[in-house]
Amino acid sequence: MAFNDNSSFDSRSVRRRSGGGGFRPSGRGAAIGGGGGLLLLIIGFLSVQYLGVDVTQLLNGGASYGSNSYQPAYQDEDFSCTGAEANSNQDCRFEGAAYTLEQYWAKSAAQVGVESYHDPKTILYNGSTSSACGAASNAVGPFYCSADESIYIDGNFFEILKQRYGAQGGPLAEMYVLAHEWGHHIQHLQGVLRQVDHRDVGPDSGMVRLELQADCYAGAWMGEASQVEDASGNRVLYPPTEAELLQTVSAAQAVGDDNIQQQSGMSVEPETFSHGSSEQRVRWLMRGYENGATSCDTFAVAGNQL
Ligand SMILES: [Zn+2]
Repeated sequence: MAFNDNSSFDSRSVRRRSGGGGFRPSGRGAAIGGGGGLLLLIIGFLSVQYLGVDVTQLLNGGASYGSNSYQPAYQDEDFSCTGAEANSNQDCRFEGAAYTLEQYWAKSAAQVGVESYHDPKTILYNGSTSSACGAASNAVGPFYCSADESIYIDGNFFEILKQRYGAQGGPLAEMYVLAHEWGHHIQHLQGVLRQVDHRDVGPDSGMVRLELQADCYAGAWMGEASQVEDASGNRVLYPPTEAELLQTVSAAQAVGDDNIQQQSGMSVEPETFSHGSSEQRVRWLMRGYENGATSCDTFAVAGNQL
């Protein structure tokens, strides 16, 4: 899914964040589990209990700064890119992917019951930042926060994905992650996101259905993204090649709950699944890719069909 070198685009929704680098000292940081009406959906692999990564310090907010008066002073920069830049630069890749996601969902959201579509914001940051759902860092992975309708992505995260979870990586895998988080925004607009109890885990739980649906929505975008044109009528993205599809499948496999548990030295325990197995994640991604967003109703199928 290479970009057309000759296209150019300015997404409405992507901002590159610099400066700040700290955490807002509020008591709200513990929202990571989805308590108190704040929904924080990690793409899957980096929940605290699976990895043994101690992010308590981060989640508790400004403690490491020793002062409650600390305020992040970051700048959010709007930027635009050419397709040639998107083929070589990660920020521009997200800019271009978001541009096509904006166009795709503006056209398609009504098909899945969204009455009034608007874009999420996408914040590209380095290291750590704050969100309405608490602190963000590459230790927690990319996530969607419904409280500020924003997707938070630290580009370094993808190196971790490759090194720790055996994903092949690659440009389309990165775009798949953005598209998955965008899928959670669609669920937010549908109202599905707040209907699911985020403590409800297990092989056919509401959480697994949410996550597989987000994978399916990502696949649906992949299937149609090459139809999107820039403001001058140039195609923005070429359809994925077989090799690129395999990269994406590899990323989806890497973030399956079973793979995470295995790679973390744990036994596979389906009753703790919150995102679905590797096989399920790939299957729903491809279902969306082949059949579009209307094929993504994971809540309508029986547990043994998931
Ligand atoms: Zn997710």
